[in-house]
Amino acid sequence: MARIIDAPLTHGESGGCDPRAVHGTWGALNAAAQRGLAYTPAVRAKADALYERVKHVVPAVEWPAYAPLIAAINEMKREKNAVILAHNYMTSEIFHCVGDFRGDSLQLAREAAATDAAIIVQAGVHFMAETSKCLAPEKTVLIPDLRAGCSLAASITGADVRLIKARYPGVPVVTYVNTSAEVKAESDGCCTSSNAAAVVEWAARAWNSDRVILLPDEFLAKNVAAQTGIGIVAWHGRCEVHERFSVEDLAEMRAAHPGLVVLAHPECPPDVMAAADFAGSTAALQDYVVENRPTKVVLLTECSMSDNVAAAAPDVDFIRPCNLCPHMKRITLEGIYDALKHMQHEVVVPEDIRVRAKRAIDAMLALPKEKPRAFATGRPEAAVELA
Ligand code: SF4
Repeated sequence: MARIIDAPLTHGESGGCDPRAVHGTWGALNAAAQRGLAYTPAVRAKADALYERVKHVVPAVEWPAYAPLIAAINEMKREKNAVILAHNYMTSEIFHCVGDFRGDSLQLAREAAATDAAIIVQAGVHFMAETSKCLAPEKTVLIPDLRAGCSLAASITGADVRLIKARYPGVPVVTYVNTSAEVKAESDGCCTSSNAAAVVEWAARAWNSDRVILLPDEFLAKNVAAQTGIGIVAWHGRCEVHERFSVEDLAEMRAAHPGLVVLAHPECPPDVMAAADFAGSTAALQDYVVENRPTKVVLLTECSMSDNVAAAAPDVDFIRPCNLCPHMKRITLEGIYDALKHMQHEVVVPEDIRVRAKRAIDAMLALPKEKPRAFATGRPEAAVELA
C-alpha cells in the first residue's frame, strides 16, 4: 500500500496522513507567534471569511494557527504587488487562502507569463520557479524553501541530454516541465502531463521523425508511447511519489471500497494506468471529478490534491492513500511569509540558459490551447528504448 514517504523534513513532524500534521499545526501557531503575529480581532476580520474554503480539511480549532499568517501574507502581497502561484499539491491553507493562481505546471506557467505583478512567489518546487523566471525575467521570482526539489528534475542534467542528442542525431527532444532550466535549454520542446501526447505528436510531425526523445520520466514516456504509437526514447527518471502506487494497492482499495472510481496520474507505472478507470494530469483529474461527481473516488497522485479538489466537489467521498511529496511539503505558510517579508530566496537563471529554455517552453505554449488530454486506460504497456 502506498504510504508516506520518509521525508527528510526536520520540524513539527507527527506522522499520519494529514499533510498539515507533517508541518505541525501547532508549529504554525508557534511560527505566527515567533513573527509577532496573533489571532486578533483585526486578523479575524481579514481572514475568517477564507475559512469557508478549507473547513472540510482544517478543523476549526486549528484555524487560529493559520489565520494570522494568511492575513499577513495577503496584506504583503497587496503592498508589494506580488502574486502567489500555488500548485495543486500545496496544502489547502496555502492553495485556497493565499494562492492567487492555482493549478498544474502548465496553468501556472501560463499565469507566470501573463501576470503584471512585480513579484512571483512560487508555492511549488524549484523547477517551477525556474520556469516562471524563464518566462518572466523582469520579475523577481521567490521560492520559500530552496530545498523544494524534485526526484525527476534531479535525475538528469544538461550534460546527459547533450550525450543523448549525440547518440540520436536528428531525433527531436521533448522534456517534461519537471526538469531544470539547464535541461530545458537542451530541448526542442517542453511538455506537461496535460499535453505530453500532443507535444510528442507535434515534435514527430515537425521533425518528420518516427521517434521522439521524451525525458526524464520513464513511466510518463511509456504511458505516452501507449497513447500515441510513436517510438519513444526514454530516460530512467521516476517521480518518487507516483512510482509507489501499485496494482496491488489498487486491488486492495477496490476490495475495501466497492464502486470506487480510480483516477491515475500518468507518472504512475503503466500497469497502474491500465487498471485505472480514468487517467490524466492533475488538471484532467480535477475536471473529471467536478464534471462526473463519482460517489467515491481515489486520486492516485499526491495526497494534498484530494483535499484541494474536495473544495469544488464537497459531495464526493475521497479515499486518500497518503502519498505526500516531501519536496512540495517544504513549502509552508511561514516560509511564504518569510519569503515576502525578507524577499528570499530569489531564483536566478543565467541569461544564455534562460533564453534557450524559454524557446523550448514557448514551443509548448504556442500549441493550440486544448482541454487537458485524458490518457486512455486499459492499454498494454508500450515498449520504449531507454537512453
Ligand atoms: S510529486 Fe513527484 S514530480 Fe512532483 S515535485 Fe514531487 S517528486 Fe517531483
